[in-house]
Order: sequence, then structure tokens, then C-alpha cells
Amino acid sequence: MSLEVRRVVGQRVSPGKAVQSGRKMAKHIFVTGGVVSSLGKGLTAASLGMLLERMGLRIRLQKFDPYINVDPGTMSPYQHGEVYVLEDGSETDLDLGHYERFTNAPVTRECNYTTGQIYQAVIERERRGDYLGQTVQVIPHITDEIKRVIHQLATPDVDVVITEIGGTVGDIEGLPFLEAIRQFGLDVGRENCLYIHLTLIPYLKAAGEAKTKPTQHSVQKLREIGIQPDILICRTEVPLQESERAKIALFCNVEPEAVIEERDKEYTIYEVPLSLAEHGLPQLVARKLGLQGLQELDLSDWQELVRRAVHPRGTVTIAVVGKYVRHRDAYKSLYEALDHAGLAHEVRVIVRRVEAEEVEEKGADACLGGVDGILVPGGFGTRGTEGKVEAIRYAREQKIPFFGICLGMQCAVIEFARHVIGLTRASSTEFDPDALSPVICLMEEQRQVTMKGGSMRLGAYPCRIVPATRAAEAYGVSEVRERHRHRYEFNIAYRELFEKHGMLISGISPTGDLVEMVELRDHPWFVAVQFHPEFKSKPTAPHPLFKAFIAAALAYRQQRGIPQEVSQPLAE
Ligand code: GLN
Repeated sequence: MSLEVRRVVGQRVSPGKAVQSGRKMAKHIFVTGGVVSSLGKGLTAASLGMLLERMGLRIRLQKFDPYINVDPGTMSPYQHGEVYVLEDGSETDLDLGHYERFTNAPVTRECNYTTGQIYQAVIERERRGDYLGQTVQVIPHITDEIKRVIHQLATPDVDVVITEIGGTVGDIEGLPFLEAIRQFGLDVGRENCLYIHLTLIPYLKAAGEAKTKPTQHSVQKLREIGIQPDILICRTEVPLQESERAKIALFCNVEPEAVIEERDKEYTIYEVPLSLAEHGLPQLVARKLGLQGLQELDLSDWQELVRRAVHPRGTVTIAVVGKYVRHRDAYKSLYEALDHAGLAHEVRVIVRRVEAEEVEEKGADACLGGVDGILVPGGFGTRGTEGKVEAIRYAREQKIPFFGICLGMQCAVIEFARHVIGLTRASSTEFDPDALSPVICLMEEQRQVTMKGGSMRLGAYPCRIVPATRAAEAYGVSEVRERHRHRYEFNIAYRELFEKHGMLISGISPTGDLVEMVELRDHPWFVAVQFHPEFKSKPTAPHPLFKAFIAAALAYRQQRGIPQEVSQPLAE
């Protein structure tokens, strides 16, 4: 997209009142992907959702993941990126994070299904005897279950359900889902369904040409299964030429105007909805689905966000000290939340990814010298924890703004216990089951509290904010709800000892036994939280704690007289 962000004001699609006359029925959009994986189907689906929502439609988004795991929470962040946690406690695919960041649609357990979960439901029914006498098969039993969970989202208050099929067309794993969405079109009427296929148009530099063949083949694969895409969204490095568009249309059997270009974004993913709008996607979708009486599309706030991303007033460098830093998607929401806070302050956040084990080897100063803020995110297991503790000690002693999240808070508590209180053998029972001073431990290891053996605290929990703290200053309210994903907790038995030495509890559960936030009294900004605030940050509503952290980092930068130059490389 051009740097100059054009105002995209939607043409009124057509006058009218209801979305559909007569019997109100939700429309369905299916998003598939072809040629290669990682084309950004999730982002595209989320962007489309956002555009439709802004035209006055009530939408829901859903993703199918073709792997067999029943519990996506157990998968390694190295392979699938972060586990995104919803308000209701479900552990889901990170694309659901895009859905929540881009739209206001409720995102719940029903919005993410794996092949494993679909099969499990069918097998459980078979075990109960529901199919007595029948042969249980992929068609119709598995496909029926897939269709059931699609219908489940199409409640009377919903206008459009967008369903994203994970994986790439042509994969064996994805076939039952594709078969199910093919049948779905027959069941509800083709006029109520729209198939959007996201594809890649590679540009061959040597030939100086954009190649359409992979797209043709991918669409052929879809058509073999019986799905004729209505719209092709083409990821491309260079602008699509009219001749290429005509060729794709002809060979793929779609209208030329239904070939939509989605160019690689130069600055921020928040350009995606603007670019799709610029290429007429929302109007095309509305026309093809017969959606009427839509509101004018106003994207001025997003244009302002993109403007800020493209022309920041300065930069700020934040070190993220973690275990999965090499994998860009492992802390997806975290990096997004940092970006949102940067946009709020009109600065670009440069993330220095620091491997926690490197801090152990090279020392904190070598890894963290010169940064404006240090963030230690969540994680599991012992590897790298000593490096995190060392990084936190550095932040505390050097008075560098520090933000600890989940394991990051637990490490901050351990660091404080060891080096300030003098409990030299303080630890978490996760790293040392026989820790002499178990300042972090399982709930049932604490007195008077009963909880199932080591089960995960998942989803949103209330947290009371203690007045006159950094937490209170950032949030400006007395109670919040934040999302959790952890087993271990601050050991409440140590509360007084910590407070006496200057680590305050600034957020606590209404029951008074779960420590949700701690902070240091004698430090410019040192806040650590047991929950994951990054899951609730949106570009249009940055999370208060991230915003306050970046403000503190900016102040620290200014205090050291570091100029606000913006010549550094773009944050990823
Ligand atoms: N491993 C820690 C626990 O289970 C922290 C988890 C996290 O950071 N998400 O409590």
C-alpha cells in the first residue's frame, strides 16, 4: 500500500433495511488457503470481519485446525506459536487473537475446533450407542459434526459467520473440512455462502514476472472437491497487472473483479483491512451475499493507526527476555500489545529479543545494556529461568522500567526474595520441588486452600487493584478481569515479608488469597502480573499496563538524554 493512506469511504451498497428480507438467516463465508501455508488467512479473515462489522453487520469468526490434537494447549510454541487464551479459558490457535484484536465479535470456545475435537465428539457419540447399527464414517458423520459446529455460531442475532479452514488446500488432513463446507453450500443454498480462497502469486525476479500457475492449480484442487471459489485474494509482492488479473479470472473461473490483490505489508499488519477495502472487498462480499442496507465504511481511526506506524515520532527499545524468542509467533500477542502501546504514544517499539540462557552465559549488561525497558514474559519449565532472574535483578538495580508477565512475575518474586529479603534459596516448586523457601508454589501446597492437583488456572479472573499503586495509576479503576494460564501462584504465606521489604501486592483476587500483581515501591516502574494482559490489548484500545510500561520506558530514555531518532530498523 502507498504510504499516503487514502480515505476509504465505502460506497453505500444499496438502500434497504434488513440484512435479508423475510426469514432472517445468517450468511456464511468460508476462507481457505492455497499454494503455501502462512499466507495470513487468519489476518485476512479477521480484516474481513472487521470491515463487515463496521458496515453494521453482526459477525462471528471461527477457525478449524486440521491437526489431531484435542487440546491445542499442549502443543509446543515452537511449532504452532503462542497458545491464545480466551475469556472463557479455552486454549486456542493464535489466529483467534487476530479475531479479537480486529473485531468486537464474541470469541468463545465454539470458535476453534481441531480435527481431534471433531472426531472425539463423533467417537463419544458412537460409544454412547447413538449410531447403533450404522457404520460410522467420515461422510456423513464427521462432516455432519463439522457442519453442526458451523451452524452453532449462526444464532439469530448473527448476520455473517466467517469460517477459516486451517492448512492448505491439497493437504490430506483438510479434506473432511473442505467436504463439509462444500455440502454446507448445498444445504443452506449457494446464495447464502461465499467461498474465498487466499492464494499466492509468486514474483520471479529473474523473469520479471508474476506467476499465476500455482494459483490455477490450487483452484483446480478446490474444484476437484466440488468447491468453486467466488473470490480469490492474491498475496503478492508486486501490484497485480490487469492482464494477470484477467488471466487468473479466466483460468480459475471467477469474475475479474473478484480477483483481489493483497500486497505484502511494509509497515504493519494493520494495513491489511485498509488495503482490502481499497481493493473493494467489502462491497464485493456484500454484493455477492445480497447484504443490503449497510452503513458507510469509516476507517479513519485505522488510517490514523497506520499513519502512526508509518510516521512515528520516536522509538523505544524493549528487551524481551524469554525462552521462545527465536520464534516470532511464540509471543505473538505480546509483540502486538507492545506495538499497540507504541502506537498510543506515537513511537515505534523496537523489540530486542534476548534468549534467557544468553543472559546466563554473557551476563545482563552485555545482553541488556542500553535498552529502555525490560519485559520478561510467560513460560513453562526451568530452562532459562536463572537468566530471567538475572535480567530482573539488572532491571531492579539499574532502575530500568520492568514488566513481568506470569512466569515473569514469578521470577521477579524469586529474585526479590533472594537478593532483597535474603532468602537465598528461594524458588518456585516448579523448578525445585524441595525449595527451602517456596515463594511460588502450587495452590494445594499452600495452607487452607483446596484446588485440584496442579490444574491450570485458565481464563478470566477478577482482580482488585490496590489504590495508590502503579497498577491503580495505569488502570484507573478498582477492579479488572484478566486472563490466566498457569499452575503456580505467589505463596501468600510470604506476603508480609515481601511488603515489609518493599515489594507491594498491588492486585489481588477478591478472595484475598491469589496475588495477581506485585510492584516495587522504590523503583520508577517495576510491575509484574500473574495474568496475561497481552491477550486483551487491541490496536484501538491498547492495554493500560502496556501503555504505562512504554510511557515509563520513554521517560527513562528521555532521562538519559537519548534522542528520539527513528532511523533504526523496523520492529518485526
Ligand atoms: N510455569 C508457570 C506456571 O505454570 C508460569 C506459566 C506462564 O507463564 N504462563 O505457573
